[in-house]
Amino acid sequence: MGVDGRTVSMSERQQYLRLLPAVDEVLRSDVVQPWLEHLPRRLVLRVIRESLDEMRRDILDSSRSQEWTEESCRKELAWRLQRKLEEASRYRLRPVINATGILLHTGLGRAPLASSVAQWVARIAAGYCSLEIDLQTGERGRRTSLVRELLCELTGAESATVVNNNAAATLITLATLAAGKEVIVSRGELIEIGGSFRLPEIMETSGARLREVGTTNKTRLSDYVRAIGPDTGALLKVHTSNYRIVGFTESVSLEQLVALGRQHDLPVIDDIGSGALVDLAPFGLADEPVASRSVRAGADLVLFSGDKLLGGPQAGIIVGRKRWIDKIERHPLARAFRVDKLTLAALEATLRLYLDEEKVFREVPTLRMISQPDEVVRDRAERLRQLLEGVAGLKRVEIARDVAYVGGGSVPAHGLATWVVRIEARDVEEDELARRLRLGDPSVVARVQDGCVLLDARTINEDELPLLTQAVAQALVVDTG
Ligand SMILES: *Cc1c(COP(=O)(O)O)cnc(C)c1O
Repeated sequence: MGVDGRTVSMSERQQYLRLLPAVDEVLRSDVVQPWLEHLPRRLVLRVIRESLDEMRRDILDSSRSQEWTEESCRKELAWRLQRKLEEASRYRLRPVINATGILLHTGLGRAPLASSVAQWVARIAAGYCSLEIDLQTGERGRRTSLVRELLCELTGAESATVVNNNAAATLITLATLAAGKEVIVSRGELIEIGGSFRLPEIMETSGARLREVGTTNKTRLSDYVRAIGPDTGALLKVHTSNYRIVGFTESVSLEQLVALGRQHDLPVIDDIGSGALVDLAPFGLADEPVASRSVRAGADLVLFSGDKLLGGPQAGIIVGRKRWIDKIERHPLARAFRVDKLTLAALEATLRLYLDEEKVFREVPTLRMISQPDEVVRDRAERLRQLLEGVAGLKRVEIARDVAYVGGGSVPAHGLATWVVRIEARDVEEDELARRLRLGDPSVVARVQDGCVLLDARTINEDELPLLTQAVAQALVVDTG
C-alpha cells in the first residue's frame, strides 16, 4: 500500500523510474564529486550503476508499495551512493579486532604475527632479497635452506623443509614416500580438518592407498602388524587435532610404531597438526604434541602447520631424516607447493624468537595469549568495561568469567579460562550490534550470547582498547545499512 493506503500500480511504478537521474548526472552530483579525488573513476561508475539498478528494482518491486517523488528518490539514491562509496573505498581484506576469544580463528587468519616479525616482512616485501642466492659464493641456492638450520636446531631433526601448508606437507610426503603403495593408518585417526582437509582424500590424491586398521575407538599394535605386507609404503600417525575419542579406547604410541617401522624397514610419518615447538602443558594444553618429542621418539618425518600454535605464517613444515627430506624436495610437487619470500621472511623471524624462550612467550601473540595469567586478562577486561561505561546507548556493561578456545583445528577439549565484557544496547538488538561492529572501522568480530555481545579480553590486544571503544560507540549511533 502507498502512504495513503493506496496500492501502487505497475504503470505508476514505471512512471517513477523516470525520476531516476542518468549516470552522467549522478557522476557530476555533489555526493559523488568528492569521491572522484581518491577513488578510480571506473570504481565510482560501477557503484553508480549498481545503486541505480538497486533503486530500479526497489521501485518495481510489487511487494513494496511506495510512492516516490523526485525529492525522495534523490535522497534515497544519495544515501545508497554514500554507503556504497564508503565501502568501495575500503580494502576487502582488512584488519579485524578479534573479540571472539578464539585464538587461532581460521576465519580471521589464524595466528597473528609478532610485530617485530611483521616489520621484517614489510621490509623484505618492499625490495629484493637473498631468496635463492648464497651471498657468500654468489651461487644459486635453495630457498628452503634459509630456515633449515633453525628448524633442525629447534626440533632436533636431521633436516627440514617447508611448503605452503600442512595439507601440502601431508600430500607431498605421502606422494614421495608411498605413491602406489599402502599407508597404514588407525581408523581412529582419519581426520577431517576445516571441511576440505580429509585424510582419505589427501591420501587418494597423493597416489598412496589408505590401509585402515583397528576400529574408531581401539587400535592395537597387532592391527598394524597384521596389515604390513609387500605393498606397505609407510606407517602414518595423525594427531586428532579437533576431536577426542574418549571412554573405552586404545591407541598405539609413536614409540611403538617407530619400533615396528624399524623392524620392517618402513618410514613412520607423524602428522602432529598444530606443531607446538615448546611444551604448552603448563597452560592446560597437555595433549598437544611437541615437534621435538616426535623427532626424539624416532619418527622419520614430522609434519605441522606454521600458523597454528607455532604462531608464524601459513606454512607446512616437514622435519626429519635427511634422505626423505631430500627426496621430498626433488618431487615435482615441491615446486607447486613452494613458499614465497614473505612466508620465509616471517617464518625465519618467528623461529628466531624461539631461540629465547622468554622472548618467544612475550612476542609471539599466540603464545602470549595462551600464557597470559588470569589477572592480566581480568585487568584488561576491567579497563575495557570502564572505557565502555562512558559510551552512550549501552544499557548494560559488565565483566564476566567465560571460556576462550585455541581453535584453528587445535585442542578442542581445552578451554582457557578468560574474562569477557558483556554489553547490551538500549536500542539495538544483539545480532544487529554484532553486524554493525563487523562492518565498522575498525572491524570488530565478537560473540553473541544470551542477548548480549561478548568481547573476550584474551584475544583483544592492550593497544586495541581505545579503538574498540570507539567502534562500539560508532556502532550504536550509525546504521551502516
Ligand atoms: C590443521 C591440520 C592439518 C592441516 O593443516 P593446514 O596447515 O591447515 O593445511 C593437517 N593435519 C592436522 C593433524 C591438523 O591439525
